[in-house]
Amino acid sequence: MSEPAIKSDAQPAVIRPDKETFLAEENPFEAMMERFDHAAQLLSLDPGLYKVLRHPEKQIIVSVPIIRDSGELEVFTGYRVLYNTSRGPAKGGIRFDLNVTLEEVKALAAWMTWKCALVNIPFGGSKGGVVCDPASMSLGELERVTRRYTASIIETLGPDSDVPAPDVNTNERVMAWIMDTYSMHTRHTVTAVVTGKPVEMGGSLGRREATGRGCMFVTREALARVGQSLKGARIVVQGFGNVGSVSADLMAKEGASIVAVSDKSGGLHNPKGLDVPDLIKWVKEHRQLAGYLRAEAVANDALLTLDCDVLVPAATENVITRKNAGQIKAKVICEGANGPTTAAADEILEKKGVFVIPDILANAGGVTVSYFEWVQDRGGYFWDEETVNRRLESIMTRSFAETMAMADKHTVSNRIACYMLAVDRVAAMHRLRGMYA
Ligand code: NAD
Repeated sequence: MSEPAIKSDAQPAVIRPDKETFLAEENPFEAMMERFDHAAQLLSLDPGLYKVLRHPEKQIIVSVPIIRDSGELEVFTGYRVLYNTSRGPAKGGIRFDLNVTLEEVKALAAWMTWKCALVNIPFGGSKGGVVCDPASMSLGELERVTRRYTASIIETLGPDSDVPAPDVNTNERVMAWIMDTYSMHTRHTVTAVVTGKPVEMGGSLGRREATGRGCMFVTREALARVGQSLKGARIVVQGFGNVGSVSADLMAKEGASIVAVSDKSGGLHNPKGLDVPDLIKWVKEHRQLAGYLRAEAVANDALLTLDCDVLVPAATENVITRKNAGQIKAKVICEGANGPTTAAADEILEKKGVFVIPDILANAGGVTVSYFEWVQDRGGYFWDEETVNRRLESIMTRSFAETMAMADKHTVSNRIACYMLAVDRVAAMHRLRGMYA
């Protein structure tokens, strides 16, 4: 007897060409690869190494079962990708978000590889994530997800092999649980297995502010290149979490005027400058910017194209695309977030003469102080905050100067200059080590 025909009401999918282009533009791994290919070509990277560096070393997918507070069993999906470990242990954050995908984690792990090489610290690159919505979970559920995810990827973790840190929706609290879970399995306390921990348990002074502080240092350098100073500069910040709020606060302390900020709940605008400490206090109490009455509301899309000197995208990927890049008025873009600008938008910004501080340079302050934390944990000797900040400033300004020298020498964009410096350093290590093949 023949099978009955399966009837379906579904219409055949029609993908419009512009939608296809848009989707490709938003694939973070493809966007990263496009820049890598460009740098590899300019470096005349040999074909064998080119193939090696186009592939992540290891990709792990785990199921993370936990018992909900209601007693129900729930299963989440978790990822950990080690992109390259030739220069040292893998280093990369963990994010908890509904939008986490393997493609995104791969891209973020590759970015970590280039970022660590660019600021010349002895780490490779990795990233991890769990597909979940922490806002809808209790603290207990969050702890169970963290501990089970950690146990599931425990073979890769370790101070000499793979060292996580906080990222979107994860924080010191989550790092403390990871450290404890790992230590329970190894039967002794291992503080250096994660960075971004509470200071009381081996975290570094200055780590929480490090990414924003790094953004402030490189923005100061970039403004000097375009003949301006941070003092009096008008700044727009998208994202008011760790990176965005600290960047805004430290830039305001240097005399800049923060004219607009936003988070998931919406944006706030005051051309005369917002009171950043007051906004931070508000968010601490209300967990979002929405409801703050001492500024005008502005839509998140409109915020990006406001009149300003510096735009700091510090929220998420793909916010500056071919659709809005042409309308951006900022002279300088400091990419606090990872991957905020698509490759197509890069071209538009370059033609307009916008000075872009690429993500792998702009937000490298975080991993730099994570490196300091790892060094302090392993040495068992802790530095004062002034030493941390001074060493961070030295690495950020040196990396900025090296990027400028590369961009000038090869007449390439700042982003391609960063990739050239980073890819060259990773390739050099592979050449010295040889291939175990
Ligand atoms: P976070 O979770 O502390 O803050 C993210 C902020 O962005 C929140 O205010 C959120 O409301 C806002 N946001 C999310 N989607 C938005 C949208 N569509 N429009 C406007 N605002 C939106 O995260 P974070 O640690 O500040 O990280 C932000 C970015 O910086 C991420 O891309 C992350 O990978 C990158 N980064 C973080 C660090 C670090 O040390 N935390 C280091 C390097 C890079």
